[in-house]
Amino acid sequence: MESKNEIILHGIPASPGIVIGKAYVFAKQAPRVEEKSIAENEVTLELERLQHAIDRSERELQKVLQLTEQKVGSQKAKIFEAQIMILADAVLFGTIRKKVQKDLKSAEYVVHREISRYQQMMMNSSDEYMRERAHDVEDVKNRVIRNIQQEKLISRFEPNSIVISEILTPADTVLFSRNEVLAYATDMGGVTSHAALLARSLKIPSVVGLKNITKLIQIDDIIIVDGYTGNVIINPTEETINRCNERKAEHEQFDSGLKELRELTAQTTDGKEIRLCCNIEFSEEARNVHEQGSSGVGLYRTEGLFLRTENYPSEEEQYIEYRAVVEKSNPFKAVMRTLDIGGDKVVSSYQSEENPFLGWRGIRLLLDRPDVFMTQLKAMLRASAHGEIWIMLPMISGIKEIRQSKELLEKAKKELRDKNIPFDENIKIGAMIEVPSAAVLAGEIAQEVDFLSIGTNDLIQYLLAVDRGNEVVSSLYQEFHPAVIKTIRYIILEAHRAGKPVSMCGEMAGDPVALLLLLGLGLDEFSMSPHVLPEIKKIIRSVSFAEASEIARRVLEMKTEDDAKDFLRVNLHTMVPELLLE
Ligand code: PEP
Ligand code: MG
Repeated sequence: MESKNEIILHGIPASPGIVIGKAYVFAKQAPRVEEKSIAENEVTLELERLQHAIDRSERELQKVLQLTEQKVGSQKAKIFEAQIMILADAVLFGTIRKKVQKDLKSAEYVVHREISRYQQMMMNSSDEYMRERAHDVEDVKNRVIRNIQQEKLISRFEPNSIVISEILTPADTVLFSRNEVLAYATDMGGVTSHAALLARSLKIPSVVGLKNITKLIQIDDIIIVDGYTGNVIINPTEETINRCNERKAEHEQFDSGLKELRELTAQTTDGKEIRLCCNIEFSEEARNVHEQGSSGVGLYRTEGLFLRTENYPSEEEQYIEYRAVVEKSNPFKAVMRTLDIGGDKVVSSYQSEENPFLGWRGIRLLLDRPDVFMTQLKAMLRASAHGEIWIMLPMISGIKEIRQSKELLEKAKKELRDKNIPFDENIKIGAMIEVPSAAVLAGEIAQEVDFLSIGTNDLIQYLLAVDRGNEVVSSLYQEFHPAVIKTIRYIILEAHRAGKPVSMCGEMAGDPVALLLLLGLGLDEFSMSPHVLPEIKKIIRSVSFAEASEIARRVLEMKTEDDAKDFLRVNLHTMVPELLLE
């Protein structure tokens, strides 16, 4: 190996596993176009890319058009109608195709040159309307170019590389996984960003928040990504590689020792039984329910399905997925969350918002788009004829949203009943508690629904005003902040007072360090990434509920996150010394 200097970077571990491989730098830039010639035998591929990009741009614009009509009325949406018409301009795109063929230039260059010419003509017009339309032409140009470049980036990427990027969106994370990516390492991002959660589901080791890895790395550099510690090592020495391989073997050995727990229950030494469930993003992952020895699916994030398809999936497509999930989790229940698109889970074509996490997200979008909501509810209801499904509502901030959702659920049931389509008449409906206002109203909300589930990923970010995906403030994103702990305690108490079960499906539920606290606070169910479930089960089987309750009582008195965390770590280590705590 040539002797380049070894560089060690520290980031935030986002998805576990240790891998070594070649780096592929994924540069996502604003469209920049250079004049580039192509060979004659590349023309067909170039024209195909152009066509895909035009089709994709059209689908994106149709979606934007629909959403804009919905939100601000058809008058404002006219801009997008005009843009779609430009895309359908046979003369303009016919000329572009011919020029690619004749001039042997890249599609993005010809799109840039020809549309800019057209744009210039409009700008020079004496008609003000024409001059204004020139901006639409520019938007269309940039959209098509961006889509051509995206196609090229993806197809240039070699399988089995480590993708390095400033940031990855959830859509990029899924897209790259098709090329057997080995790992992800990014400058930005936080541990509970949706791209990180998806990487965990896809079992792709990842480190985020590395700040400047894209500046330090060169294409084809060899790197190690350690998704346990958050270390990324560029150009590792032989010695470093050996050490990493040893650590990898240690983890593998520890994990294989956990396999024997599969058939055992998650019961404390003094007999309290806890339900451990899996969080999944894709229907295939439901096999983990049995493989990991869990008690069902505690959170199925249905957005994965929506990210993989260009348009909203039909009722039938959704029904097939939901049925697959519940059939795999039988005889246990599957908690399915209605669409929580928005925040950082934005489909690329959506309107951008200044503050997406405080914007049109989750239940807000669904109640504004009853057509989308009803389609999903009907698909879930139909799937409930094949196993136990509980429906869960995301981003609830008050009672009114629950009542409106329940009305729509009744309407969906009636439609199915009228058509004699079977479903579970007693299907349970629950609310996520992830917005502080919902936490304050936990007792009232619990009376309206069958169950609560605490979404700590969002609850922490909203309670502490810390963006969950921003590495700059990641040290302030504190699971063990006294306000977080007191809020969790309050939600659990209020749910129990109303006689309703309460689960946690945020990442905190799968954090070994949080376990003694949550157990002691009386949480009924923990739902987590399947890979951590056996370890959590091991801890539960090694401790007593009485001890955990005492530990929780002590933690509630602590004034800072550091005190709480240190105390929990020390106790955990004493009780289960064989754990590999990083
Ligand atoms: C949460 O907020 O904790 C949660 C489980 O939902 P998501 O991570 O999908 O926002
Ligand atoms: Mg959430």
